[in-house]
Amino acid sequence: MSYDDENIFAKILRGEIPCKKIYEDDYVLSFHDINPQKKIHALVIPKGKFIDLDDFSINASSEEIVGLLKGINIVAKKLGISVDTGKGYRALVNINEHGGQEVPHLHFHLFGGERVGRMVE
Ligand code: AMP
Repeated sequence: MSYDDENIFAKILRGEIPCKKIYEDDYVLSFHDINPQKKIHALVIPKGKFIDLDDFSINASSEEIVGLLKGINIVAKKLGISVDTGKGYRALVNINEHGGQEVPHLHFHLFGGERVGRMVE
């Protein structure tokens, strides 16, 4: 499967669709999920064109990998849910069909602000 330039997060990255931005740097963009499942539900996406976590693990540069992981921590801090600023959170990535991935651009969900509950429904 090749990367679909018309996916909704690609459009957000190009500024064609608005988002409620939390944070942005050279490697990541973070914004609030449009349909939050918990009190805090943020998304963190790499700026590069990666379909899913496997694609990212295989094809991203070391800088992009570090940039994404550091970005997740920066966002968690900004939201007050990181271990040093709050009570923790869940980072979740859905991958492809069985993972329930709907948008084919890699994204980390960050859930927090309350107890997140069972790991898998
Ligand atoms: P996934 O099922 O892991 O692919 O999750 C896709 C997520 O993207 C869902 O939680 C949606 O609510 C969220 N989403 C879809 N469109 C938008 C949008 N325009 N802005 C913010 N979040 C979105």
